[in-house]
Amino acid sequence: MTISAPDRLTPVLTDLWDAPEPWKLATYRDHGGYEGLAKALTMTPEDVVAEVKASGLRGRGGAGFPTGLKWSFLPAPDGGPRYLVVNADESEPGTCKDVPLMLANPHSLIEGMAITSYAIGGNVAFIYLRGEVVHVYRRLLAAVREAREAGLIGTGLGPNGDYDLDIVVHAGAGAYICGEETALLDSLEGRRGQPRLKPPFPAVAGLYARPTVVNNVESIASVPGILRHGKDWFTAMGTPKSTGHGIFSLSGHVKNPGQFEVPFGITMRELIDLAGGMRDGHRLKFWTPGGSSTPIFTEAELDVPLDYDSVGAAGSMLGTRALMVFDETTSVVRVIARWTDFYQHESCGKCTPCREGTYWMKQVMHRLEAGKGLPTDVDLLLDVAGNILGRSFCALGDAAATPIQSGIKHFRAEFEAGLHTAAWELFPYEASALF
Ligand code: NAD
Ligand code: SF4
Repeated sequence: MTISAPDRLTPVLTDLWDAPEPWKLATYRDHGGYEGLAKALTMTPEDVVAEVKASGLRGRGGAGFPTGLKWSFLPAPDGGPRYLVVNADESEPGTCKDVPLMLANPHSLIEGMAITSYAIGGNVAFIYLRGEVVHVYRRLLAAVREAREAGLIGTGLGPNGDYDLDIVVHAGAGAYICGEETALLDSLEGRRGQPRLKPPFPAVAGLYARPTVVNNVESIASVPGILRHGKDWFTAMGTPKSTGHGIFSLSGHVKNPGQFEVPFGITMRELIDLAGGMRDGHRLKFWTPGGSSTPIFTEAELDVPLDYDSVGAAGSMLGTRALMVFDETTSVVRVIARWTDFYQHESCGKCTPCREGTYWMKQVMHRLEAGKGLPTDVDLLLDVAGNILGRSFCALGDAAATPIQSGIKHFRAEFEAGLHTAAWELFPYEASALF
């Protein structure tokens, strides 16, 4: 749900979400949709890249890599194909912004894909969607068909009629690791999705070993606004190094969980206010700034500006802006045990630290959750996590280790209580139940 608290909201991608049938091409066009594409097609591809670079747009999938810079890494055209692949495999626990964006406003993504493909010289673009969201798959297929029938994609585009673009929507099979960009490319090529060694980065050798830009849904959907209104409009929002608007997803023990599109640099205190505050009679215990893969924060970080640098300086990562809020009725051990189950299940098995380490961490977390921990378990967890961190082949290993380390740092006593008392005795389910 969206909340109307106009002070801090900057609805750009979410502005149509409450309109009737916002997913229809006609609705999108009535609100200026595809004007950014029309403008881009009158510019040179180099100028489009330069405009996005100057806007400071950073990747919205988690890592925050500068989008225009990534596009500029593609080698000079050699006559062969170049691809745009949109990473729509949103699966990070707590992350839930791309699915509603694609459902409500699929044309912002399609327009962004057309602009991006033109900028990088690509004629075929892919959306790699997580397979479970069949309703989104259907919505995207319908929107691509609408755009094709309206002549917005297809052949003979642009003022000179010399640009062609086709868009393919591909549904994955539901593996979290396929959100890692190179595993995604393997999966798209029809192979088992496992991360590739980088470099080469996809910009140099990506899909079918050709230059490929892989960008998140929200990154690409943000591009039309930049072309339509200009880079200065975009940089007027946010902070100097984290420009623009972003969708922040609040879930958990707040009164009105939902998506809040706001400028980067907003604080968690302000966002909790936008979400109506904590549920009645309860106080904040801890929260995640960027999904389950990032070190947790507590009340002490409520006033940290939510931009890439400030969150990094405070010891965590902004990641996917999945802000999960937990109050004092929540067992940290239970929450982190659930995340550890997830990472153990989703580990692709390619490298030993992650494959074996997530298995061991899961065993120990379950012992502690059940109040049957061994005296050495808390230090054992730190030891295993420390041996995964920085030693795994891809970011999934680090993601599994990080919450355990930060959970123990902030709430060691609660982990130690797991040597003799079960989490469900200390924190009964009824009290902490999320809505
Ligand atoms: P990364 O920092 O390795 O790379 C970020 C992007 O920049 C990639 O596209 C990469 O190809 C590109 N890049 C980096 N250096 C480059 C270079 N020298 N030349 C060319 N391109 C270069 O991060 P990552 O491993 O791709 O992603 C990790 C992030 O993914 C985490 O921050 C996490 O928050 C996020 N994540 C998101 C989800 C989700 O559901 N959206 C799920 C899991 C993880
Ligand atoms: Fe696979 Fe985990 Fe290694 Fe990544 S860190 S390659 S998910 S085993």
